[in-house]
Amino acid sequence: MNSTEQQLEHLRGPVPPIAHNARTIAALTTNPGCARRAVMDAAGVDKRAVAARVGFPPPYGQSPFAITRTRAFTAQVKANGCAELLRMLREVLDLKIPEVAYRDLEDAGGNESQEVRHALARQVLGNAAEHADESGTLFDHPLLRLPVGGRQVFLEPDLIAFQYQGTFYVIEIKSFAVIDGQADGGKVAAAAVQSAVYVVALRRLLASLGHDPARVSHEVVLVCPENFSNHAVATKLDVRRQLTVLNRQLNRMTGIDKLLATLDPGLTLDLAPDRDGAPTRPVGELCVAIEHIPARYSPECLSMCEMSYFCRREALGTTRALGHSVSEELGSVEWIDTVLGLAAGRLTPAPEQIEAAAVLRAALRLRGESVEVPA
Ligand code: SF4
Repeated sequence: MNSTEQQLEHLRGPVPPIAHNARTIAALTTNPGCARRAVMDAAGVDKRAVAARVGFPPPYGQSPFAITRTRAFTAQVKANGCAELLRMLREVLDLKIPEVAYRDLEDAGGNESQEVRHALARQVLGNAAEHADESGTLFDHPLLRLPVGGRQVFLEPDLIAFQYQGTFYVIEIKSFAVIDGQADGGKVAAAAVQSAVYVVALRRLLASLGHDPARVSHEVVLVCPENFSNHAVATKLDVRRQLTVLNRQLNRMTGIDKLLATLDPGLTLDLAPDRDGAPTRPVGELCVAIEHIPARYSPECLSMCEMSYFCRREALGTTRALGHSVSEELGSVEWIDTVLGLAAGRLTPAPEQIEAAAVLRAALRLRGESVEVPA
């Protein structure tokens, strides 16, 4: 184990790490400048438990009912060798094939090590790319890998990869409903980004084996229940735009080594659980440890990060709390009080604030004119 791994392990404490999945990578790349999330995710810290311990439990998360429903729907789509899935693939990809082969890559001969499961996925998918199967094959649970912040992370596989005549398609099964041909736009957008994460990982795997990464299609297949029934429906999604954003954000992420080098080497977010698993770490001490890792809060965090309520409280009174566009406009002005003081002319701007101060004074004047009531 190298020193980076040791530091990350110390940060997490003596509990198993939380594994990455497409959702966590998608969220990470939505806010690539946040060191706090990057470090906590790299260490596999249970952010939900940490946020709850300091009094800011995350406002969202799948209910046990939703988790059970997702599992039941997924099992239904995959039943009988994925018979229902094949019916949908024939429709959505316009296939003529009567049947497909099915290979579950979750079982690597009883070995649960991520390295072994990834090696199996690599070998089987590489072989499929080498000898394109005319009849098509579904590969369930391939454990993929992606470099994030200079470190290889394994992606817990929620996906199925479908290979047909040398082209691979990512298939995502989701339990949100499509009603009268329409699904919740936000959920579809999130599913598109998550599918794009798998496309990137699958493309990198093929490229590392000397195959053309473009053999992984930019069209993914999204499978959802239709009209609150158990009937499944498949839709093709074009994720080219998401792939561009994702690749750019992954490249922008600072290496974990560099982020760790700025932190106290003894820093830990260990919750010190007792024998029953209940956290015993003093809350004040834990808050100080969290605040030691710089964050970059923006309102988007509220829908995608378990730490968001804590970070929002911390960012109270700053221009960052008003969103990216406002804080970028006012880049040199950190506090809302300063914004108000500069706008009203009560404060003298520092040299780097002169431009922002002029804009603020003009904005306040325009606002005054527009709300002025004629006598
Ligand atoms: S909520 Fe906090 S830790 Fe999470 S991404 Fe936002 S700023 Fe970073």
